[in-house]
Amino acid sequence: PIYLDYAATNPLDREILSKMMMVSTHYGNPSSVHKLGKNAKIRLERARELIADNIFVDPNEIIFTSGATESNNTVLESVSRANKNAHIITTKLEHKSILEKLEQDKNIEVSFVETDSEGLINIDDLKSKIRDNTKLITIHYVNNETGTIQPIKEICEMLRDTGILIHIDAAQALGHVPLDMSKLDVDYMSISGHKIGAPKGIGLLYIKSDSKLNPLIYGGEQERGRRAGTENLIYAHAISVGVRKAVRDFDERRATEQLLKNLFLSELNSLGVPYELNASKNVSPHIINIYLPFVTTDIMLTRLDLKDVYVSGGSACNAGTVQPSHVITDMYDENRANRSIRVSLNYMTTEDEIKKAATIFKEIYESLK
Ligand code: PLP
Repeated sequence: PIYLDYAATNPLDREILSKMMMVSTHYGNPSSVHKLGKNAKIRLERARELIADNIFVDPNEIIFTSGATESNNTVLESVSRANKNAHIITTKLEHKSILEKLEQDKNIEVSFVETDSEGLINIDDLKSKIRDNTKLITIHYVNNETGTIQPIKEICEMLRDTGILIHIDAAQALGHVPLDMSKLDVDYMSISGHKIGAPKGIGLLYIKSDSKLNPLIYGGEQERGRRAGTENLIYAHAISVGVRKAVRDFDERRATEQLLKNLFLSELNSLGVPYELNASKNVSPHIINIYLPFVTTDIMLTRLDLKDVYVSGGSACNAGTVQPSHVITDMYDENRANRSIRVSLNYMTTEDEIKKAATIFKEIYESLK
């Protein structure tokens, strides 16, 4: 099989797995006052420190969550509960964990900032949408469907001294685009473990030291009262190693991904497979979203699946069919979204896999022509 769906999830990294096995013997509850508990607590804090050191923040600014979905929901819930009728600005291109949460919360007024044909936000439009009761801007750092990288630094500069909080969903950013928090003046940031080789079910929320947070989950005093529930030491270590590797190997990974992306597109070109990039300007190297005029998303995914090439497009719905991507629909139209797919790779992808995948694209194209 050729796996080209790394933006959806990653396999468990072997180094992470061995770290998980190593810490698994420390089964004490970090809240217990006996030696076993204290030992687990010390180890939990070591994982937090490793993460903090690698993204240049203070360990107290990090909490462990169950994933980027929970991190995103926590920030929105926190802002909603702190204000009566909070106005929040976002884009229509967010992950569902932002859009659906906003949709559900009747206390939140939402404005959607304009995005251009590349999915990049229009900063002037963002400025014009700010109101007296604007409390938060929430925006993805890297789009999970197109790979588009948003100008977070410019947004932060524009919002400086306005008192408006900034949240970024960096689930697709870590390991693919530079992520130095000392250079980004954001209040909150979400990260997902399974996008960096840790298991599903662990994530991080960065909370700038002077920014408040109302918890989403109540109970014990874990995570300094910001997220209740006995901490998962094994998963905390898993994500800490994932973060360390993503940062340490960043240059190498990025170069590999860029090379593979270019290779895939040049292979499609030389094989004569017609396609158009849905986003091409400011795009992370691990995501390729293409419009294939000759085939619908559904059929292309099925044909590729039959050949054991795994990619994605749109979102799966109950009937087992694919609904057109809300991102591509918003950037273009439903017809284009119905004929677009996302190929996503990572540093583990090989040139051979890329060439084989391109050849299979060619075969499918020939058979449908
Ligand atoms: N945000 C973005 C941009 C994502 O790509 C994902 C992953 O699908 C999520 C949030 C949700 O992450 P998790 O699966 O850790 O809840």
